[in-house]
Amino acid sequence: MTTAPAEGMIDAGRRDGAAGSGERGAVAGISGLTAEIGVIGGSGFYQIEGLTGARTIEVPTPFGHPSSPLTIGTLAGHRVAFVARHGAGHRILPSELPSHANLHALKQLGVSRVIGVSAVGSLREGIAPQHAVVPDQVIDRTRGRQSTFFGDGLVAHIGFADPFCPELSSALARASEAGGVTTHRGGTMVVIEGPAFSTRAESQLYRSWGAAVIGMTVIPEAKLAREAELCYASLSLVTDYDVWHPTEADVSADVVVQNLRANVAHARAAVGRAVAAIGGRARGCACGEALASSVITPRELVPLETRRRLALLLERHWGTPS
Ligand SMILES: [Zn+2]
Repeated sequence: MTTAPAEGMIDAGRRDGAAGSGERGAVAGISGLTAEIGVIGGSGFYQIEGLTGARTIEVPTPFGHPSSPLTIGTLAGHRVAFVARHGAGHRILPSELPSHANLHALKQLGVSRVIGVSAVGSLREGIAPQHAVVPDQVIDRTRGRQSTFFGDGLVAHIGFADPFCPELSSALARASEAGGVTTHRGGTMVVIEGPAFSTRAESQLYRSWGAAVIGMTVIPEAKLAREAELCYASLSLVTDYDVWHPTEADVSADVVVQNLRANVAHARAAVGRAVAAIGGRARGCACGEALASSVITPRELVPLETRRRLALLLERHWGTPS
């Protein structure tokens, strides 16, 4: 795994990324701007290229400011909003990420699908550096991260058995394969707290669990996306073999950076193809109904302040708080 900064503009923090899009197209965003698909760029992926009519705007949220101003424009004929997960210049640790704000900002813009792009370490011989993985499961080894929008008088339990949107994941995998990069469909990602990489014992433990890759940022992003009824899928790009491999070099910032440039070029192209493929299509998955039967607390018992803070998530179910 990885995480370290590197030369020039390329940082090595690893493991993260995501994207998405939305289907509520008509929702007015800041300055009237809207987007359909959100992209959260991870290590090395600090800007999105090829957007036409791009504008960069601040999107304040009830959960603070996103990691970076959002860049909004048209990509492959569809409205896309991009946020650099670690901020401009890669300044935000995985443990410090304002994931609530990132996802809330995307939802404000009308996004319904979110693609996360992340650098990851491999836990399997057959998953080599510069390969891509679109994981279908997660083991959460983070500690103490606030991984829900709820609380403060409102209890909700979303289903998370399948943490990634199957429809978006499939589109993302196809888009990655089309770039000629070996792409592994499915696999379990272990998400660790970081920022240090694993010990050898931990790395071997995760291998014994059958995990495929290791990263630091998909949790809480994927959980918060589900709570916000956003589709979320991860394009995970392998930079190293973590520390379990008997002959390959241990992960380090330097090792990560060596593979980062190629990975990011591939990620940018794959995201463009995924947007072209899935943009404008109605969602056929269940992500958009995640809250329909998940809220336990009766509406009349939820403090008004909490309802107001969560209005963007709840208004479709409860109406606008007075
Ligand atoms: Zn979905």
